Amino acid sequence: MILGVLGAGQLGLMIARAAANLGATTRFLDPNPNACAQSVGELIVAPYTDASALDRFAQELTAATFEFESIPAQTVEYLAARVPTAPSSKALAASQDRLHEKHLLESADIPVADWRPVDSIDALHTAINQLAVPCILKARTGGYDGKSQARIPSPDDAQAAWNAIDQRPAICERIIPFDRELSVIAVRSKNAQTLFYPVNQSHHTRGILTKTISPAPTTNPDQIALLQARITHLLDQLNYVGVFTVECFQTADKLIANETAPRVHNTGHWTIEGAAASQFELHARAVLDLPLAPIRLTHNHSAMLNIIGIEPDPALASIPGATLHMYGKHPKPARKIGHLTITADSPDQLAERTEQAERIYSPLLAPASV
Ligand code: ATP
Ligand code: MG
Repeated sequence: MILGVLGAGQLGLMIARAAANLGATTRFLDPNPNACAQSVGELIVAPYTDASALDRFAQELTAATFEFESIPAQTVEYLAARVPTAPSSKALAASQDRLHEKHLLESADIPVADWRPVDSIDALHTAINQLAVPCILKARTGGYDGKSQARIPSPDDAQAAWNAIDQRPAICERIIPFDRELSVIAVRSKNAQTLFYPVNQSHHTRGILTKTISPAPTTNPDQIALLQARITHLLDQLNYVGVFTVECFQTADKLIANETAPRVHNTGHWTIEGAAASQFELHARAVLDLPLAPIRLTHNHSAMLNIIGIEPDPALASIPGATLHMYGKHPKPARKIGHLTITADSPDQLAERTEQAERIYSPLLAPASV
């Protein structure tokens, strides 16, 4: 079996390692000649829009997927005409445009923050009037790790926010005063089986994920079951195949969806150590049309700390239950270059080990912008 992956960053790297355990080799396509996943597979260096490179990439592939959502949907469509490719270009297109994403979530009855489309400064003033401050302006496409977003604490900040996102088509939404952030990671197979990992609790600092705890403490089972049912319905509507993630805000009485990702997700990295089958394995199984393995935890509690911007102290790896994953990327502020998983038997033990790690390491983030 040969698995093709568009994008050769750390997500591709971890997909390839999981695919190897299933007996598959991996071929990547990425415009970056230094992409870190080349250490675990063949890399074709070319732009995603290069048809002859895509033809070479597609040769003899068993199936293809992508590792991040900035791949042009037309590339995925082109590939899908040649090899089984999942998720579909339709699912990708919905997740890479925040306007389509809101419509998609609303069509599945999944609550979202109140929002308005914005394509001019006048439209932004109207949106701010209707939504009331504080709100947040997000470019429709191309944002990640909190980039291409600007907060609007007062109506006077409208012009600065509009300039900060380079006056690109956007959505403006209410800022949700959430209690915490959660993520729900699902995987769906070609024969329509949908499984869910336990819900994760995520912590962001300046728009970047810094820590995940899983399972999230004290979730409301009815609330989670309802959201999972709606996600299952949404995935059935899309005939979705692969891992799919929904990021949520939890308020006193509601779960509000923030955004979706049609791919393996940073909040699921703990599954490499914490679950019998990781999100990378289940994604590879779904894309290669192999049976899904059941979701079973191998440790009761897991946490993940992102290694961001600066090489970590090797002492981190000596903390009991800790496993350090470095991606082979050159460090620079705000760049994710690795992660640390910590497993434990009890919430107290997890907290103690995580605090120990946080005393040794703190991420180097970019200057505050959001
Ligand atoms: P990533 O791709 O890393 O998940 P992103 O750039 O796509 O991030 P979002 O997930 O939309 O951006 O926002 C990043 C973070 O900013 C959120 O996880 C949350 O902490 C905060 N945030 C975004 N939108 C809102 C909102 N409407 N209300 C409150 N906080 C928000
Ligand atoms: Mg996000």
